[in-house]
Amino acid sequence: MKNICLFSFFLFSAIAYSQKDTPKIIVGIVVDQMCYDYLNRFNVNFSEQGFKKMIREGAHLTNMHYNYIPTYTGPGHASIYTGTTPDNHGIIANDWIQRETRTQVNCVGDASVSGISSSALYGKSSPKRLSKKTITDVLKETYPGSKVISVSIKDRGAILPGGHQSDGSYWFDYGNGTFITSSYYTNKLPCWLRKFNRKNNAMNRAQIWSPFLEDGAYSSEDDSPYEIILSGKSKPVFPYDIKNLCEVSGSLSPFTISPFANTLLTDLALEAIKKEKLGKDVSPDMLCISYSSPDIAGHAFGPDSKEIEDMYIRLDLELSRLIHYLEQSFGKSNFLMFLTADHGVVPVPQKLIDEGERGGYILIDQVINYLRSKCVSKFGDDYILGQDNLNIYLDYEKINNSTNNKEEILNFLSSNITYNNGIKQSATGDQLQKLVTNDTLLQMLAKGFDPKRSGDLLLILEHGYLPKTTLSAKPFKGTSHGSGYAYDTHVPCLWYGSNIKSTEIEQRLEIIDISSTLSHILRLKEGAETGKVIQGLIGQE
Ligand SMILES: [Zn+2]
Repeated sequence: MKNICLFSFFLFSAIAYSQKDTPKIIVGIVVDQMCYDYLNRFNVNFSEQGFKKMIREGAHLTNMHYNYIPTYTGPGHASIYTGTTPDNHGIIANDWIQRETRTQVNCVGDASVSGISSSALYGKSSPKRLSKKTITDVLKETYPGSKVISVSIKDRGAILPGGHQSDGSYWFDYGNGTFITSSYYTNKLPCWLRKFNRKNNAMNRAQIWSPFLEDGAYSSEDDSPYEIILSGKSKPVFPYDIKNLCEVSGSLSPFTISPFANTLLTDLALEAIKKEKLGKDVSPDMLCISYSSPDIAGHAFGPDSKEIEDMYIRLDLELSRLIHYLEQSFGKSNFLMFLTADHGVVPVPQKLIDEGERGGYILIDQVINYLRSKCVSKFGDDYILGQDNLNIYLDYEKINNSTNNKEEILNFLSSNITYNNGIKQSATGDQLQKLVTNDTLLQMLAKGFDPKRSGDLLLILEHGYLPKTTLSAKPFKGTSHGSGYAYDTHVPCLWYGSNIKSTEIEQRLEIIDISSTLSHILRLKEGAETGKVIQGLIGQE
């Protein structure tokens, strides 16, 4: 019965979606740090032409989840665009400890390339650590005339979606306030981008950030003890004079925490469509946009802040601007758009503590120092190389030069982990590779584990907990993400445009299904590795 259903689905979709229906342009939007519930919480203040239009006239997938740990930006973008999990594509975190060099490396860091039009510290980035093809790579292999352009504030937000064969992946340079690329792609920025940069330096775009709507329209309080106070401010409240804050701090970070960075990115995306002539010939082109500022602001102010509420009210207008442009230029039947997020976020744990909810902090340095001291007293030496992303790395070099045995050390450290203080579970790399279990969190940890890049002993925290490195003054402010709990895994997933039904799909889906579905829709020559084709999305009603 199942096979017949599957067959009839493919037959139906093949009829419904013939070659002539292939969209001229596909626009993939990733919002950095967007919890699923924002679609509901902020809905009342959204326009009719942005998120609400995608929900009303497109497909709304209400139960899309990440299926691995850790839920960070690098792994998120890589998994959306490769259709597989970090154990396969190798982007296990934003940064990790590289055993060979004994240093921390970045998921898109690449010392062998140089920045193009960049300032000194930015631009040494490429997709070399991404070990699988992206959907954008396969698009270019299927249709040799296809173009791929990818833009973001963060380098990893542009590089990982654009894949290995991108025609242009551009990200923000915190040193000079313009968009740059690296010598991996080209030795010169295109003329149109140099012109765009001359007109649109971040300092010229930084304004005063005041609430977009009148005060009564917001559900969140402006002043709370859980928000980080930006340098140059005495309270975490509106208005934010972004230009002045940049000058006071001597940095462009205040610009990237503001909605003005989203607007600048939309402008860049629209300029790229025009100047690269995307969607103008028979080969489908793809534009990837990753809005980073919701994440940068989310870390500082938390999901319950007025700043985040305003950020999303304004992001909705960016979306509406994009949809309007695409409809005017191509018509609804000729473009395909999807929107999702790279992860969600946990409410500020200090707020959870104060409100009597589950949550808190573990002092990760204390945990590691305790294990180091146990190791010294048992084996006469400290064999821990370091910790990153709750992965504990053993010092193989030191162990190999000693008479001690790696397995023995690992088992000893593992048996000395203290639970019920915020740490819920732990697993060694070997356990994860041989894993046969029904435990969902361990299965997710295994899907995020790469033996060459991950640690030897991995920790899972309790619900609502974050690791902290130092004990700063209470209350602790700001928040983060990375866990396998729904607040981090449950993200929006909206599809709109060419042949997409107006429908709501409640089935639980995994983030890796997005690329498989795109591959099916675009008739690409290779499907994504592990995802499934999402059913009920395309065709007439
Ligand atoms: Zn983040």
